[in-house]
Amino acid sequence: MSDGLWRETYFDRVRPVVGETLARARAVFWDLGHGYLAAEALARTGLRRQLWLDDARPEGAFVRSLGRWATGHGRRGEALAAACREHNTFESEWELVTRPDSLEELHRALDERPDVLVARGDERARDVAAAAIAAGTPLVMTFVPAPALGALHIVWIPGTACPADRVLEACGRLAELPSLDLDQPAAHIDGLEARSGALALASWILLGASRPDLERPLVAEGRVILARGRPDWPWAVRFLAPAELDGLLARARPRYNAPLALLRDPRLLVIGLGTASLFCAEAAGLLARQLIVVDAKAVSPYNPVRQVYSTRDIGDPKANALARILTQRLDPAADWQTSNEGPVSWRTSGSFRLGAAQLHLTAADPGAEEQLIELLDVARPTLAIVGMGRTHDDNFMVTAELRRRGIRHITPSAFPGVTHYKHIVTDGASGPCYDCLQGHLVVDAGPGPTLTEAQRELFYGGTQPATLAETYPSAHSLLRLAQDLAMPRGARPAYLAAELAAERACFVGSNRAERAVDGQWLYGVDQPFSMVAFGLEDLVVGTGAERPCSCGRVNLREK
Ligand SMILES: [Zn+2]
Repeated sequence: MSDGLWRETYFDRVRPVVGETLARARAVFWDLGHGYLAAEALARTGLRRQLWLDDARPEGAFVRSLGRWATGHGRRGEALAAACREHNTFESEWELVTRPDSLEELHRALDERPDVLVARGDERARDVAAAAIAAGTPLVMTFVPAPALGALHIVWIPGTACPADRVLEACGRLAELPSLDLDQPAAHIDGLEARSGALALASWILLGASRPDLERPLVAEGRVILARGRPDWPWAVRFLAPAELDGLLARARPRYNAPLALLRDPRLLVIGLGTASLFCAEAAGLLARQLIVVDAKAVSPYNPVRQVYSTRDIGDPKANALARILTQRLDPAADWQTSNEGPVSWRTSGSFRLGAAQLHLTAADPGAEEQLIELLDVARPTLAIVGMGRTHDDNFMVTAELRRRGIRHITPSAFPGVTHYKHIVTDGASGPCYDCLQGHLVVDAGPGPTLTEAQRELFYGGTQPATLAETYPSAHSLLRLAQDLAMPRGARPAYLAAELAAERACFVGSNRAERAVDGQWLYGVDQPFSMVAFGLEDLVVGTGAERPCSCGRVNLREK
């Protein structure tokens, strides 16, 4: 296919589904250290007009996510504009403007009636929120306090049942709390989850999609604070009215800090580079000094709006494109030494080893098993991610071999339309394996989500109507699970230790909460942006769960 045809596919089949309204919308961001992720993700899906009130240099989390090339720019806005243009070369007429982060500039920006203001809750939070409310501009303001309160998003929409002065009071109170330093590596995943939460909320506001799960609490009931994350469950979600803030703050506990020093540089293997490509971009450098990426497919015109690849990568094999992107992020100036070892093409620089392999590792392919064994012998992974898609479940052969070798692994997948996503966690040789759970749980057999005709056509036409607003939460929760699973067993956070001890190893996350046709919550998740875990107690008789598993376990005994 030629560049012209790819462009045609983007405008005919991708943009109409991800939202034509974005092409006309305008967004203002207060602080790119928080907002870079939403700004870049929305630009990739066609939000061309953005104003960034930010004066800082590229460093910290911004550089960890976007890459070390960004430090070559004087200000974050310049680096981000370069990234946006580079990622989506099909769009033109960009208006990506950076101005100083002064209240004067903010008032001037709001006078032009933008569609949303995405702001970090900083010491000027109350003034920033007051300006948005006075201008009638929908607001998403995010706080990540140092005490373990998770991420708190204050969402103000014109017409909300919450009085403006109560909203401002809440902003003022949250601004007084010490904030977590999101530039620290140990807080990076907390920061990513807070940023993608803001992206999902901004995306909802910009697209104007019907979302009863957000409209009821945030607008009709005036519960304008969305709190996500608790010490015992990183994805617990609650909507609070400002009056309930006292209770929340009174229960604040010290935060769990991931002991990254205990990771001892896992050797990471990632097979299947769809949504997992986003995982790789953040995991390289943060979790591992050796990463091998494996896929046989090429980048398609549907990928840049929801995976790490840019429109320039379309047509290239995913493994090669990702390796190229990662070298730019990890060390653009380095002299990357190349070598080959079995199926793996290595790029090595300093202490980092990056491998790429173009392999189709599904049982249907002749020789796949031998190739897998050769790959594992070269990679010797301590942690693997296996996400080869769910149209035909291609993951069984690989996960069975990882299980045999006692290698810890996670198998991420998405449900139709990426309304929900799922990660099956296998703790090496202990607990249930992928085959124990996959296809045998109530979530695998229930009714599907409501999709529009266009979405349905896109999904069943072999792709999914998802954008980064839906795939980032999946990638970021995968990143947290991978980090925590890679820890020595005794150092894992309590939530993971508890779930694995109870053999609940299937984590299902939601981008939206929706009632299925039977009146039950779809996939058992009753709040947007939350996660629930399923395990052996949720196996369904009649799905094949009664047979002894390929790993040797007997999970469901006849009564
Ligand atoms: Zn099993």
